[in-house]
Amino acid sequence: MKCPPILASEELRLEALSAYGLSEDQALPDLDPVVRIAARVLDMPVAAVNMIASDHVFLAASTGLDDVDVDLRREVSFCAHAIAQSGLMVVPDATLDERFHDNPLVSGPAGIRFYAGIPLFSPQGHAVGALCVIDRKPRAHFTRDEQARLRDLAQMAADRLELRRVEFSTQSAEHEDDKPAFQPSPAVDRLNDEDELHRLANTDILTGLANRLSFYRRVESNLARGSRAAIVLVDLDGFKDVNNALGHVAGDRLLCEVGRRLKNVVGAVGTVARIGGDEFAILLSDPPSHEHATRVARAAIASIDAPVIVDGDEVRIAASCGVAFAPFHAREAFELVSNADLALVKAKSLGRGQSFVFVPELRTEVVARRLNLVELDRAVSDSEFVLLYQPQIRLSDGTLTGAEALIRWRHPQRGVLSPAAFLPALESGPLAATVGTWVLDQACAQAALWRRWGAEHFRMGVNLFSAQLHVGDLAGEVLSTLERHGLPPEALEIEITEHTAFDDDQHALEALQRLRQSGVGIAFDDFGTGYASLSSLKRYPITRLKIDRSFVHGMLDANQDASVVRAILGMADSFRVQTIAEGVENEKQRDALTDLGCEEGQGYLFGRPLSASKFAGIFGIAPPLPLSQDRLYAEADNANPS
Ligand code: C2E
Ligand code: CA
Ligand code: CA
Repeated sequence: MKCPPILASEELRLEALSAYGLSEDQALPDLDPVVRIAARVLDMPVAAVNMIASDHVFLAASTGLDDVDVDLRREVSFCAHAIAQSGLMVVPDATLDERFHDNPLVSGPAGIRFYAGIPLFSPQGHAVGALCVIDRKPRAHFTRDEQARLRDLAQMAADRLELRRVEFSTQSAEHEDDKPAFQPSPAVDRLNDEDELHRLANTDILTGLANRLSFYRRVESNLARGSRAAIVLVDLDGFKDVNNALGHVAGDRLLCEVGRRLKNVVGAVGTVARIGGDEFAILLSDPPSHEHATRVARAAIASIDAPVIVDGDEVRIAASCGVAFAPFHAREAFELVSNADLALVKAKSLGRGQSFVFVPELRTEVVARRLNLVELDRAVSDSEFVLLYQPQIRLSDGTLTGAEALIRWRHPQRGVLSPAAFLPALESGPLAATVGTWVLDQACAQAALWRRWGAEHFRMGVNLFSAQLHVGDLAGEVLSTLERHGLPPEALEIEITEHTAFDDDQHALEALQRLRQSGVGIAFDDFGTGYASLSSLKRYPITRLKIDRSFVHGMLDANQDASVVRAILGMADSFRVQTIAEGVENEKQRDALTDLGCEEGQGYLFGRPLSASKFAGIFGIAPPLPLSQDRLYAEADNANPS
């Protein structure tokens, strides 16, 4: 067993810990809901907030440990290890971990197998304790979703600890104030300091709005009074891009302006807070109706939508809102806010500038996602994925130029699932890169076969997961895949979106540049829907713009969509990149796009996503030697075995 490390700043850390006035017999009931929710939402039997003293640890709150006699020596504590790390510590199976396999908490009655813990920091940055969840069976995966939930809860625990610290130091200052008058006066100054501290602890310094801590406190006291309440969470879409493109000073100004606009919308009847980088929250106490709150959400979106002038530049930003009501959706503050958060995630998935009111099914979806992960594991090992191919057509003469590979999951019970049903779970879990590698290999195998069958210049489009771009050696992998299948680089077009690529990640940029230099095509998917479009065109080695189908859909009826299409085609022209329009569903759209000079099209008009054999049949791609129709189909599908 390995003893936990002791940090160089240990003395200061212990001093920071003493400022909370906690001890073994001073648990903090404020933390009870945090551990209860942690255990429930992460489906763990045990959760605790563990404070780490010099030679022992003590539980400020815990659930699931009532009938176990826990060994509280620091030397055996998992959390004592976690506080030596800057972020999350996960132990999938303690019996297989060097540090813990012979730890009495593992071999004894506590029976820890899985552990995940996040350090909790004092305002000076000392890790005073940790929030942890524990299972008595090993868990191979702790998904990104689950990690994010635990981080949110750790933030919540840290906020509550901070509240405790401020209260405790105010109490001790008052105590000093009780001392006889001949005592020197610093206690009074200290009290003023404490007032100031109190104010600072409750205010977001940048915007002057309430901060996360005081927001939760207000929600709590509201709910404790039994009043009705509505929460509107507001998240800015594409704020990171503004920050990257215009700098942090401009980003800060924009945030202040958003705060000001939200206050205007809400007026005196609600609280506006900034609870994260680009996340704002509104609390409406006793709103006259649910509709009133949804109107506030819509007004918030509209107010943020109006352009902001920052340093002479006109900046446009959109926002999404998630709404939840108490006591209708939850009676407890964290639960209420986390329901609003689920609604916000849903709103964002619907596109920019949307708002969504929580419905209980959103929770079921989260559970389904977790289940999905176990199943995804099986899908990978049992090859349940297949690729379909959607034709891409040159508009001037109607010839086939290539196809986009689109994944489907042949689920043994639920039938063929489209990406919307499983990509969110896949992308947030550990299997995205594995599946991405399979898609690439499979699509290249298919392209190579069809090229051998005479579709000489056939080009295959392959969508990337963001995991493929941000970890590992994408360029190396792509180039070796091409080589393995004997394909020239121009036979492949990688499709990236703002979501997968444009995270200001140098590693991703370099991989794409290397691919581009080798001759692989790089298409910017869903072009026109994001904020970063124009600035990223300059930075990224794009060879083709894929005009998003929403614009094609509206181009004949809505002037605005038609001008977006025209603008994209103009942009493509000046950047000398090629163009393809997605979602072409009828001849009128095709003709309009052709007239505007768009080079290629993809959409139901030319063909839906098809199995390899149907694709080959319809587009007359056949082996050079005459084969029977049956063998032809069999060989086509062999390239795509699942
Ligand atoms: P996408 O890359 O924008 O793919 C185009 C989507 O538009 C496909 O949906 C396609 O079926 C649909 N579509 C094509 N033509 C039309 C049309 O004329 N009208 C309408 N309404 N829709 C049309 P699909 O197959 O459901 O895929 C959805 C998304 O899932 C894709 O959007 C892509 O982002 C992702 N995806 C699919 N396969 C893969 C994959 O192998 N890897 C990765 N990383 N993502 C994939
Ligand atoms: Ca695509
Ligand atoms: Ca697309």
